[in-house]
Amino acid sequence: MDKIIKGVLFNGKARIALIESTETVNKAIKIHDLTPLAAAALGRALTIGAYIETNLKSESDRFNLIINGGGPIGKIYVSSDRPHTVKGLVENPQVDLPIRKDGKLDVGGAVGKNGDLVVVKDLGLKEPYIGRCKLVSGELAEDYTNYLYKSEGILNAVALGVLNDSNGCKAAGGIIIEALPDADDNMVFILEDIMSNFTNVSQLIAEKGIEEIANFYFGHLDAEIFPAEKLGYKCDCWAKIRRIVRGLGRAEVEDIIKEQGMLEIKCDYCRKNYVYTEKDLDYLFEEKK
Ligand SMILES: [Zn+2]
Repeated sequence: MDKIIKGVLFNGKARIALIESTETVNKAIKIHDLTPLAAAALGRALTIGAYIETNLKSESDRFNLIINGGGPIGKIYVSSDRPHTVKGLVENPQVDLPIRKDGKLDVGGAVGKNGDLVVVKDLGLKEPYIGRCKLVSGELAEDYTNYLYKSEGILNAVALGVLNDSNGCKAAGGIIIEALPDADDNMVFILEDIMSNFTNVSQLIAEKGIEEIANFYFGHLDAEIFPAEKLGYKCDCWAKIRRIVRGLGRAEVEDIIKEQGMLEIKCDYCRKNYVYTEKDLDYLFEEKK
């Protein structure tokens, strides 16, 4: 089961989240038939999305993460329909590039860095919150660090990773630390030093799991580590698709069904196919009781 462990360090002067997203990434690979490179990029983005989701205050709050770096993977979208879930897609799931000289997948090359990372949060207010930041490398950890600092004013550190093997994703996840306003330079120095251990965070997650990482690397820092919260890939498109169809209006839908024999809509996030025919019309357009 995927999960997020959160905690506070230095008696509440910094907060930490450790995320394990292996199953989520494997589900994305299966749904979208991702290449290992696409899985690495979307997996990192899904891990960021999981972090954003768990920081929403209300169960009805929603977010969208859009990464558009101009690279061959195209745009990356991540969002969530309900608490403790994420879903995502990339425009080109078949993207492939040569392995980098250091043996790693070229996520930065796939994503590109000519564009921005945008976070839209619907917090139930009149206007959504929109944060936007230029991409730095397309590697996504660095880009999200930059986003948190420049757009939300938070001093932070982010490590993200996806480790693939011949069966798919072997381990994926990340570690995100945010320094709160009364953090001092010494704490930031200590945290930077610890973060240098996470250059290959997915390998570490495969070996130790996030509970052990939390205790081993952070347990001594006046830490309070909270119980794990579960996380998974889930798409609740049924109601949304029905809303879209209803939005077309009965006359329009009837015309399409008459001309084409059916109305077919595919959900981009879960690849589920919805087919409506004449017999669905009454049910689709019945007035809400
Ligand atoms: Zn769906």
